Amino acid sequence: MFDANSPWSSLEKSRVSLAFATLNGPKDHDGSALVNVHKVDAWAAVLVGLQHREGSDSLGEYSCVFNNIWLNSAYSGYGAKFYWKVARHEMMHALSADHAGRADSRASAENPTTMSTCVAVSDFKNENFLDRDGEIQLQWIFNSLNTNHALNANIGFENGTSEWGGSNGSLSSVASGGVGGTKYLSFDATGTSSSSYVRQTLRLWTGDDTSQFRAVLAARAPSSAVNTNARASLYRKRMSEGSTSLGCGYARALTNPNSVTIHDAEYVLVSQSSLTNVGTSWTTVASPWTSLPKRDGWEFQTRAYGNAAGSYSIRFDNVRAEEK
Ligand SMILES: [Zn+2]
Repeated sequence: MFDANSPWSSLEKSRVSLAFATLNGPKDHDGSALVNVHKVDAWAAVLVGLQHREGSDSLGEYSCVFNNIWLNSAYSGYGAKFYWKVARHEMMHALSADHAGRADSRASAENPTTMSTCVAVSDFKNENFLDRDGEIQLQWIFNSLNTNHALNANIGFENGTSEWGGSNGSLSSVASGGVGGTKYLSFDATGTSSSSYVRQTLRLWTGDDTSQFRAVLAARAPSSAVNTNARASLYRKRMSEGSTSLGCGYARALTNPNSVTIHDAEYVLVSQSSLTNVGTSWTTVASPWTSLPKRDGWEFQTRAYGNAAGSYSIRFDNVRAEEK
């Protein structure tokens, strides 16, 4: 709810509400919303207020002690994008998301994310959306597949083929019959089980974190007449922080990078399952948990291999890398 004594205009309140609504877009593997952020007209949940704090450079703040959010009205001159970005960022904190560095997790470009810090207001995008990294953080925290953390966006293909690509094959989304939820992925392989795969690539800056990783998927055959095999694999490249500095010591959310200046050109296999024969019922296929040494970061590629080649398509659902 908004502070009853709020000096906000209805326009400002509506901008904040629209920003919060974008958090309800990402779907759990079963098609349900990962979070349900909505306005209540009673003392509950998070109170949202607007203040101008003398001497404060903060754009806004979420307090877990008082369970409230305030936005700094000194920045209101930046208009809608200030309210969208900062309100969404603070509500993500309320949903227990931590800060990210300035760089996003895409291998192709580096843009500020919802949870980036050390970002100037002038860098905010002039559109109201939750970026892929914001979705991945919600998946990591809330996905209900199991007790491990899931690392990918659009895990159940409930938002179609978004964020997924294929090598030696084409992707299409099927509307009903998935595992738990409605949708799943049909992958028409043009190669073999060792060359045709569905993939999603992301960069994970880990610093001194030590975790274990694996790849998991659900697969089934297009029909009982087609011999179908599936394999879950996780590949990686090593990443180094390099010399990039934005002057705030938080370029990539690393406070203690490892001074290993290696950046692989090619992917190296981390972990893969055996090639598993699947019938017309959904079958879970997982690679073994594997530890990785401390590095500044990893570029991961989650791969779902399948061999139902030709006019037949292997079915995939709930494809993800997991961390524990
Ligand atoms: Zn923050």
